[in-house]
Amino acid sequence: MYPEKKTILNYGILSSISWNSNNWADHPTDEDLKASKYNYVKDNAHMHESLNFGHDNFPVEEDGYYIGYTPMFNRPPDVENSRNVQVVFFTSSDFKKFNRKTIIGFYGFPVFGEWFTRKSKHELYKTYSRGNIKALPEDIIYFQNPIVINNEIVQTNNLLPEGKKISQQGFNYLNSDHVYNLIKLALSLNPSNSKLKNFVEKFPLIEKLAKEEFDLQDFIGIIGDTTADTLKDIEKLEKKMKGQPPEIKQRISKYIERGAISKKVKKLNNYKCSICEELGNSTNSFVKRNGNTYIETHHVEPVSTVKIGVLSITNLMTVCANHHRQLHFGNVDLIENTEKFFTFIIDEQKIRIEKINIS
Ligand SMILES: [Zn+2]
Ligand SMILES: [Zn+2]
Repeated sequence: MYPEKKTILNYGILSSISWNSNNWADHPTDEDLKASKYNYVKDNAHMHESLNFGHDNFPVEEDGYYIGYTPMFNRPPDVENSRNVQVVFFTSSDFKKFNRKTIIGFYGFPVFGEWFTRKSKHELYKTYSRGNIKALPEDIIYFQNPIVINNEIVQTNNLLPEGKKISQQGFNYLNSDHVYNLIKLALSLNPSNSKLKNFVEKFPLIEKLAKEEFDLQDFIGIIGDTTADTLKDIEKLEKKMKGQPPEIKQRISKYIERGAISKKVKKLNNYKCSICEELGNSTNSFVKRNGNTYIETHHVEPVSTVKIGVLSITNLMTVCANHHRQLHFGNVDLIENTEKFFTFIIDEQKIRIEKINIS
């Protein structure tokens, strides 16, 4: 049922930051500042990364993103080499524990490559005014129990590219296997971290892991053994879905979005992002190994509404990963849903998308 897992290069980054005894949610201690390996931190008694995991305490920016920092991105990673990056893990050396190196958490679906200024109001933002990486708070995961790493652990668990030692100061690119293995380790160390679990569920490559780790028996009980690969199957599912909790509906939606119908829709739409096309942008999505452009499908009317037809093909549109996230989290209103098209207001711009026609 699952496509064979292929290794994707440069799927993640492991990047180091200074140690912060306040769990990166407050000022560093004087000791922290002295122990930092970074001259900038020592010289200026200032650590931009101090608030990297303060996303539960401090305000996000207007766009919903929370800003963090790693000294390693002052010279930003190459855009082209980083286009597949889904996760940036932060590693730090605990000087109080013999410089034990740990991975303390990550930013999922991060945006980086430039400086970001904190414009929201908070006392601490006066001191820590900017950063060079950002993510949505729900995708910023702090490990209460960090992953301790050393060169042996890294080798045994395949956490870094072969032959690579953990860099003391710098960052490593990780392939999808390394990312997968790190998240798996994090999960095993932090079994009750519900944010991490939620992240895993929407993480494309570890869908399978999510299925193993989390109780999906209920889900299978509801949908039966259907593959949801025909419109008839979907119609049946839609009926069964009535009265189910939103979480189940969400899962069913995802199940369909991965299935044959979705593949058909993507093909029909020529692997194009409907929004990019309407805006006249060339989609900046990457090309997969099979030669098709990477594209996602989106249910326009949220599946949780249980409106009839919500799961049907006419409620699907194809979008690039960026626009997909914008549809979910951005300033977007659906103002019209007719037989032939959807009309959205996206950041005050009216955008009309023709519906998919399979006949
Ligand atoms: Zn797009
Ligand atoms: Zn969606």
